[in-house]
Amino acid sequence: MTRILIVEDNQTNLALMEYLLRAFGYEVLTAHDGEHGIAMAARDLPDLILMDLQLPGISGFESAARIREASSATQVPIIAVTAFAMVGDRERVLAEGFDGYISKPITPETFVSEIEAYLPPGRRAVRGDPRP
Ligand code: MN
Repeated sequence: MTRILIVEDNQTNLALMEYLLRAFGYEVLTAHDGEHGIAMAARDLPDLILMDLQLPGISGFESAARIREASSATQVPIIAVTAFAMVGDRERVLAEGFDGYISKPITPETFVSEIEAYLPPGRRAVRGDPRP
């Protein structure tokens, strides 16, 4: 099963993302701050990480950098999830080692397909395959 780690301090956003991903068949791990997210990335080896940028303590930028430094998790896709809407944020996010960027508020209808664009096809949840 494909494992996705969500690092997000806002419980409402976290619950929505977790619900949507579980509904499509993903295993979801959650952390409420960067410190736990970094530890879980190294220990649990997720297939993809969703990282809020504004976190208590260690920022999402710093957390992503530390995950990249850990030899066990250097290749994992890390997607920034942020309410930042300023011009240049996307460029900064990509320049600082993130693989992509998703804007909050989350759009439930498209969220999972946005995430799956960053997963190799073999790691995506099987969908639209009703059994007769
Ligand atoms: Mn936050």
